[in-house]
Amino acid sequence: MGYDELGLRPVVNGLGPVTRLGGLPMSDTVLEAMCAAVATNVRIDELQEAVGLELARLLGTPAAHVTSGAYAGLVLAAAVCAVGGDSRGVDELPLTGKRSRVIIQMAHRDPYDHAITSVGLRLTEIGYPYSTRRHELARELDDTVAAVLHRIGGNGDVLPLRVVAELAHSAGVPVIVDAADYVPPLERLHQLHDDGADLIAISGGKAFRGPQASGILCGRADLVRHVALHHLDMDLRDETWSASEVTGYWPTGGREGIGRGMKVGREQIVGLLTAVREYVGDPVRWDRHYADELAACERALTACDRLRVTRRHNETMDVPTLVIDFAGAPVDADEASRQLDRGTPRIHLSEAEAWRNRLILNPMALAIGDGERIGERVAEVVRAATDGA
Ligand SMILES: *Cc1c(COP(=O)(O)O)cnc(C)c1O
Repeated sequence: MGYDELGLRPVVNGLGPVTRLGGLPMSDTVLEAMCAAVATNVRIDELQEAVGLELARLLGTPAAHVTSGAYAGLVLAAAVCAVGGDSRGVDELPLTGKRSRVIIQMAHRDPYDHAITSVGLRLTEIGYPYSTRRHELARELDDTVAAVLHRIGGNGDVLPLRVVAELAHSAGVPVIVDAADYVPPLERLHQLHDDGADLIAISGGKAFRGPQASGILCGRADLVRHVALHHLDMDLRDETWSASEVTGYWPTGGREGIGRGMKVGREQIVGLLTAVREYVGDPVRWDRHYADELAACERALTACDRLRVTRRHNETMDVPTLVIDFAGAPVDADEASRQLDRGTPRIHLSEAEAWRNRLILNPMALAIGDGERIGERVAEVVRAATDGA
């Protein structure tokens, strides 16, 4: 079935791994693995365990569980930190027990925080948008705290993970890190562990190029082992359901946890493992392609002297990008964006800096030739406005 049959116009994705456009293309190897996976049934808890062991080995992390994305990873991490493997706790979420708060530095707030509050936990903000002090964290850490949620970066003089983990651990509180678009590179994951992260949520559909609805929750084995209770279909009979043949684990109690709606199918689990294997086998596989597409776009845009085009490196995603500045052009970034969406081919670029009158091209989702197509179309939009002015 083609999308045209549904009356849909395809989009040239110049934003990269964004969910609203469906993410990145997957390799043939990943797609074949997904097809093969659905031909046979297995116990999903055993598949999760076997893949978790293999992912942990590939990534260099103590333990791992496949989720339906980093957001789901945060939900499951929060659930585990709130009630662990206690069967009553699992059943009662989002009604939490004593541990009902998650601490977050104000500089780390993000719309994805909904993952935490959806489990029934309250966020306690500490510090200010550009700074946090140690005592502001220390004075919040008591037995009502389920976890600290940490993000990477955060502008200003904020507490680094190492300090957060040191303080949190001294109060017996685990630290969850949202590393959705920050890992890979794998060295960063190892650094997060070294700095004291307890649970780390990563997207499978971003730089790993796995299925769009996949992700990894990894970290401390004693915490990761409880994730299954909150995630998997546990509506099984005590009388007949046997211990896992992979690890011997036999979850008891609990039925359908709060993460049950974020289930992953076997094709996603196997697809993600295959994608991670491909990544680990050749982490720089796409670098040449990115450079070629950005160069082609840049060349097409030099025909247009009203635009200022500069190279940049997106530090979070560790990928080169092209910044297109509309300050000298007869259309602003918002109007260009609207026209790019309406035109043919239909093009979407990043509007992260549209407020500064810039659009940004991220090459991660581009097919061969897309860079040039985008450059030509943007130049055309500017030319048409110049002629009309
Ligand atoms: C993308 C992203 C998420 C959500 O990741 P999914 O894998 O789409 O669920 C969460 N946090 C941050 C910082 C992200 O960039």
